[in-house]
Amino acid sequence: STEKKALYIIFGATGDLASRKLYPALYLLYTKGYLKDHFAVIGTARREWSDDYYQSVVKDAIDDIKESDKDAEDFSSHFRYQSHNVKNSEHYHTLKDLADSLDNKYNIEGNRIFYLSMSPAFFGTITTHLRNQNLVTENGFNRVIIEKPFGTDLKSSIKLNNEITDSFDEDQIYRIDHYLGKEMIQAILALRFSNRLIKESWDSESLSSIQITLSEDLGVEERGEYYDKSGALRDMVQNHVLQIVSLLTMDEPESFTTDNVRKEKLAVLESLKKPNVKEEFVRGQYKTSEDGKLKGYREEEKVSADSMTETFVAGKVIVDTDKWRGVPIYIRTGKRMKEKTSRIDVLWKKTDHQLFDEGDSFLTIHISPDEGFELQLNDKQIGPGMDICPVRLNSICSKEEIKSKPEAYEKLLLDVLNGDETHFAHWGEVAASWKYVDYIRDAWNENLDNIPFYSACSMGPDESDELLTKDDQRWLYNP
Ligand code: NAD
Repeated sequence: STEKKALYIIFGATGDLASRKLYPALYLLYTKGYLKDHFAVIGTARREWSDDYYQSVVKDAIDDIKESDKDAEDFSSHFRYQSHNVKNSEHYHTLKDLADSLDNKYNIEGNRIFYLSMSPAFFGTITTHLRNQNLVTENGFNRVIIEKPFGTDLKSSIKLNNEITDSFDEDQIYRIDHYLGKEMIQAILALRFSNRLIKESWDSESLSSIQITLSEDLGVEERGEYYDKSGALRDMVQNHVLQIVSLLTMDEPESFTTDNVRKEKLAVLESLKKPNVKEEFVRGQYKTSEDGKLKGYREEEKVSADSMTETFVAGKVIVDTDKWRGVPIYIRTGKRMKEKTSRIDVLWKKTDHQLFDEGDSFLTIHISPDEGFELQLNDKQIGPGMDICPVRLNSICSKEEIKSKPEAYEKLLLDVLNGDETHFAHWGEVAASWKYVDYIRDAWNENLDNIPFYSACSMGPDESDELLTKDDQRWLYNP
């Protein structure tokens, strides 16, 4: 049977992430039969909520996806709420008693999933208490899910990791990078390694550049306090962007197992060349939009009026191996850009002989909001002569198809139930990524007296375009 047994304990159950992502994802696993009779969820947070109230919050969170009122009722009846201060040892005893009684009631056999959906400042405290106050069971599996950010630099991430691994082993730790749960991110390895056409022309012999764009149209919204201390480099590049780089450039793993995939991803992340930051990385901050309608970053709530925090980064990443050294990987990500898009463009060089007057050929992987890929090739124009024209082959999902596909959190939570860590960030990858990002951060910190601005609703500062024109390249995606 597909049904799994698990008791979830969610720390931060009253939070935004829990309602927006976790409860809907758990509900979808429930409707598909992965969770059924033998599961329970304990939500904890500081607030005093009753079970009834908590269950009504859960029902609200699944209101637009529920199959029926009765189904939502049945699902939410598995939820309990426990008011909890993560620093108070006593509270863990109460939590343990509740966990044991629910385990008994639903015959869960000791399987536990601890979801830490709150500030990383508490991760170490929570995992230590879980171990010391015996919430970790002997008879079932015990897994910890951790949200980003995993530290703020290499040093803090090592400290955080040490705290967590004092109580849990690496193979019990699931570091969420929700990009790794996205359908088209997972498709990268399929496209690369199951098509000879692509596989054999995926290196510096054949490619002229790889371009990764993760642009957001929103500003910082109500997350100013966190974001102003973080910035785009830490918030997006350390995790999502570098994970994508590793999937795009890793060698073929011996087999598709967690260990083999991790080994190859790690090899790439450890081979990243220290950039010449001044020449190869660009930061930016959004200012008021040209029409005056969108305010600038420094006017946002909880952002300091003279903030030097970057809301945009572009850079040239080089994987320093014989296979990849010759291919620039241009990355860019930012807030308040012209469009909300995540996509990868992979451009091939022109052929050596150029028998015909060929144009660009490239593969675009659309991650979101579109999902699918497009391949542009050169074809002969119909009619006399040998004029060349571009053709586009594509496989783009319809809105209905996208809607029917499992969402990232649903897939990742199912992986945790199955004990599959392939689509989670391994400690070694996290550490290597921080090392790279710290190097850039440190270089910027030496020169903090100016930051290029870009108008809200644009594709970033001019310096971002110049980064490519210097190399005789251009951003393929230029809305
Ligand atoms: P939130 O501020 O909405 O919720 C935080 C939760 O932590 C609340 O339930 C609060 O009661 C609880 N909490 C805080 N201090 C506590 C204490 N001392 N004892 C017990 N409970 C305490 O945050 P969120 O948006 O739900 O995000 C949760 C985590 O996930 C954060 O680390 C955030 O960085 C990360 N994250 C969030 C998003 C998102 O889209 N919201 C995306 C990626 C990562």
